[in-house]
Amino acid sequence: MSQTRGRPYLAIPGPSVMPEAVLSAMHRSAPNIYEGELVEMMPDLTADLCRVARTDGHVAIYISNGHGAWEAALANVVAPGERVLVPATGRFGHGWGEIASGLGAEVEVMDFGKRAPVDMDWFESALRADKSHEIKAVLATHVDTSTSIRNDILAMRRAIDAAGHPALLMVDCIASLACDRFEMDAWGVDVVVAASQKGLMVPPGLGFVFFNDKAAAVRRGMERVSRYWDWTLRAEPEMFYQYFGGTAPTHHIYGLRASLDMIHGEGLEAVWNRHDTLAQATWAACEIWGQGGPLALNVANEACRSRAVTSLRIGAPYGTELRSWLQREAEVTLGIGLGMAEPGDPAWHGFFRMGHMGHVNAHMVLGMLASVNAGLMALGVPHGAGALDAAAKVLAKKENSTPVGQPDDEAVKAKTCC
Ligand SMILES: *Cc1c(COP(=O)(O)O)cnc(C)c1O
Repeated sequence: MSQTRGRPYLAIPGPSVMPEAVLSAMHRSAPNIYEGELVEMMPDLTADLCRVARTDGHVAIYISNGHGAWEAALANVVAPGERVLVPATGRFGHGWGEIASGLGAEVEVMDFGKRAPVDMDWFESALRADKSHEIKAVLATHVDTSTSIRNDILAMRRAIDAAGHPALLMVDCIASLACDRFEMDAWGVDVVVAASQKGLMVPPGLGFVFFNDKAAAVRRGMERVSRYWDWTLRAEPEMFYQYFGGTAPTHHIYGLRASLDMIHGEGLEAVWNRHDTLAQATWAACEIWGQGGPLALNVANEACRSRAVTSLRIGAPYGTELRSWLQREAEVTLGIGLGMAEPGDPAWHGFFRMGHMGHVNAHMVLGMLASVNAGLMALGVPHGAGALDAAAKVLAKKENSTPVGQPDDEAVKAKTCC
């Protein structure tokens, strides 16, 4: 008998749970796109969006998913025949590289595997080896959503500088924006790519490209840029329609306004802290399960783990069986194991992911973990006992110890970098 007469929980790494405030902001009749509220809300909206990326730079908005934002960013700074370097730590790094290939770029992929972050020595040596500075841009992924590896973006900036290389540092923050600490300006990032449906809690449909003045100068040096992808007018429009290169994504704008109000109302630091605590609780449960069975966190080093998604190995066929059980019996949807094995390979069924991004709180994550616990029991998958206690302990401890307000910058950096 399945227990499925309550609220389902989409515990995957995007699209994420949509808050009621976002949904009700979108539940309205079609607004005037020539004048009035919609037009007037844009300057504050873009400013508040830039605050989430921690930048005083520019932002261009596209009606697209993350793939579209990948292409938009590249179209502005990389011409056919130019070289880009892709340090890949999972499926998404490769994906961005494939988009670059499609645009005619010469793509050099450095594959760091599926369980470890970018090795800074190897990365720096690749830049040093490029003596004639042909690499125009580095396409980095902050959090790779397939492996749940989180890369140290500040260290990448330092490696590029240490090599004396002028390449642009472009970072995919689609899975990390408003989940994991990210500081575009302070970390020297030139271009950031993001999308609406993960930490920003808005339905899929908006892509964002943040860029600084250095990247804007590179754009001006391009021989030509597709009119549609060109970020110039989108970032500094003279007319409302130019923000979007055409008709505005009217309802998404209202949804995004509500989401930004929630994020800044809670405080970005508090949002990051909440994700950190919920991730710690998730890992604590996974560690215990793993002590008595096949379940294992994909990323061993805690410092290199995403706070938004956790990738797990459990061995085939348990990954798929567990997902099916949770869907059927608990109305919890877990993520598939993306890119860990080829679809069609029986090993593909040995992975899954837990999303804990965006509009999530303690009872949602504890409920998800308890459902996984029940699934392990029901399927007879061996597992350590006491996982839920371990998760609860993290929350009980954090509740008493998390300081409210601005944490010390250096302490946070030390804690959050690999
Ligand atoms: C989700 C995601 C993408 C792709 O976004 P789509 O909206 O599915 O196109 C790219 N990169 C990362 C890191 C992601 O998490």
